Amino acid sequence: MAETFIVSLDQGTTSSRCVIFDHNGVSRAIAQTEITQYYPETGWVEQDPLEIYQTQIDVMKEAIELLNINPSQIEAIGITNQRETTVIWDKRTGKPIYNAIVWQCRRTADRIETLKKEGLESYIQNTTGLIADAYFSGTKIEWILDHVEGSRELAKEGHLLFGTIETWLLWKLTQGNVHASDYTNASRTMLFDIHKLTWDQKLLDLFDIPLCMLPSVYPSSYQFGEIDESILGVRIPVTGIAGDQQAALFGQCCFHSGDVKNTYGTGCFLLMNIGKEAIISKQGLITTIAAGDSTDVEYALEGSVFIGGAVVQWLRDELKLINNASASESHALSVEDTQGVYLVPAFVGLGAPYWNPYARGMIVGATRGTNQSHIIRAALESIAFQVNDVVNAMERESGFNVNALKVDGGASLNNFLMQFQSNVSQNFVFRTKCAETTALGVAFLAGLKVGYWKDHKEIEKNWNLDIVFTPKINKDETDELLYNWHRAVDTALYWANYKKS
Ligand code: ADP
Repeated sequence: MAETFIVSLDQGTTSSRCVIFDHNGVSRAIAQTEITQYYPETGWVEQDPLEIYQTQIDVMKEAIELLNINPSQIEAIGITNQRETTVIWDKRTGKPIYNAIVWQCRRTADRIETLKKEGLESYIQNTTGLIADAYFSGTKIEWILDHVEGSRELAKEGHLLFGTIETWLLWKLTQGNVHASDYTNASRTMLFDIHKLTWDQKLLDLFDIPLCMLPSVYPSSYQFGEIDESILGVRIPVTGIAGDQQAALFGQCCFHSGDVKNTYGTGCFLLMNIGKEAIISKQGLITTIAAGDSTDVEYALEGSVFIGGAVVQWLRDELKLINNASASESHALSVEDTQGVYLVPAFVGLGAPYWNPYARGMIVGATRGTNQSHIIRAALESIAFQVNDVVNAMERESGFNVNALKVDGGASLNNFLMQFQSNVSQNFVFRTKCAETTALGVAFLAGLKVGYWKDHKEIEKNWNLDIVFTPKINKDETDELLYNWHRAVDTALYWANYKKS
């Protein structure tokens, strides 16, 4: 019998990718293409939904060709996606009525301020698990309906559909037959009650969004539909859908309460599986639904670090201290320590658990002997310190003790950084061999539904360890480092809050 595969469509913020996995969870073919970003005004970000769909189809065909397989060898398709990005289209024509408003877009920030003034913040958090913010889809949908002439009427008449990217892709792939989403994506819209697993009527009324625009919502591992025969010549079931970060949590096999993964990309995204109780955070973490195969859902706490690998890009592009990101490692290892230098990369403020949008970057502790390697090392260390702060916030709020961190993303390839993370967190750090944990996660979800993999146990066998980092310094040394890091953060906050008396 011919070998069979699972296809992951990984629609990210900057590119559309397709990864084909075999039964061992090994990625056998990858194709990728960048998508166009539009910045019509300062702080606004848009993309073309039709380009998103077309590039996704193109990369899927390219990957199939690369592996030289027949589409009938594909058992199932999974879709993972940039989250929160909002598309509204007319179901009669299949045409979007406006560009996709990308999650990063800040155009509705003022609207969020108004909602906060109206005292809706805690209702939003208690219902949706989210901190009221312009990132999420709710105010983006409202903005489109407010600004595209005639759209409110069309919406009320039932002609318009809303979807985040997975919903849009699924609708297109099924030629308009299926309008659906999964819990992980729905929980990022700021319209979904994560406890009752339904759209929240009060929030829909607030933004004047008719229920008929919204997709049906199912578990992430589910028989969503089949792609139309015209696309690959055969019908293939779509049986996995999950937002990118939740897909990565699943791809890292974080199946148990207290399991944490961190993706070290431009920013860092930490998610902790917290089991069946939706803990609502008091320290600026988000509560979200984890990917699974049942309506008896599990939840995750999510925290992000705004500047992760981006601090390395800053060293490279602005300070010109290194030629490429990986050179940061040998610099860091060329010195014993930072000689007391701390760098707080609060370039765009500080996220959890500090939440200060006015904080700015700071280098403290420099002496006459400070050289570029000390600064580079301090920059790498700052990534680990920030991640550690989020892990600690998660521990405090969830009550779970973290003893291991599963890692992926570009900067996780830096062995110095991973060792330092293990040192400051006094945790094991597990780096997986698979660089594609997001795509792998949704492949697992899709494969589980069609019996390609039997259960979580079988999936765990496909999680391949690259290296485990173990703490190499003792607790006292860690405490000293953390004490000074927090002193540096306090100093940055003091600078931000300083008022001349
Ligand atoms: P994204 O998905 O956000 O684009 P990636 O997972 O591709 O991010 O990781 C890219 C980021 O990781 C960049 O910010 C880059 O500076 C950083 N990075 C890549 N390789 C290394 C390395 N060896 N050491 C430190 N940082 C790195």
